[in-house]
Amino acid sequence: MIVDAEEIRRIVERMKKDGKVTVMPSRRAAAPEKPRATFGSASCRNCNVTFTKRASTSMFCKRECYLADQRRERELAKEPMQLLVCPMCDSRFTPKTRNNQTYCSPDCNLEAHRRRNRDKKK
Ligand SMILES: [Zn+2]
Ligand SMILES: [Zn+2]
Repeated sequence: MIVDAEEIRRIVERMKKDGKVTVMPSRRAAAPEKPRATFGSASCRNCNVTFTKRASTSMFCKRECYLADQRRERELAKEPMQLLVCPMCDSRFTPKTRNNQTYCSPDCNLEAHRRRNRDKKK
């Protein structure tokens, strides 16, 4: 069935007359402002400042603190994922210490030392 624009307009007009179509007022009445709810106070998880909570789940005094905490958490989550490849045995390992661990085990470290010394003697 092909209905042209003129036909649609006529149908809508008829429906309006019948009260089937309600034309929305162009301007919506402004919603009355809700009183701001308070959720007591809490201490910021980032800087320990006591602040007024804006939501029951608020944990930070300001956005910066929230972002700082997020950053720190991401960093902590990232750390165990860090994998290094041992140049001695090619195995992947997670450094246990923060200082630059190059080899997967003390054995590989020792072996590397031995090889370096041997090379020197040549
Ligand atoms: Zn804070
Ligand atoms: Zn190794």
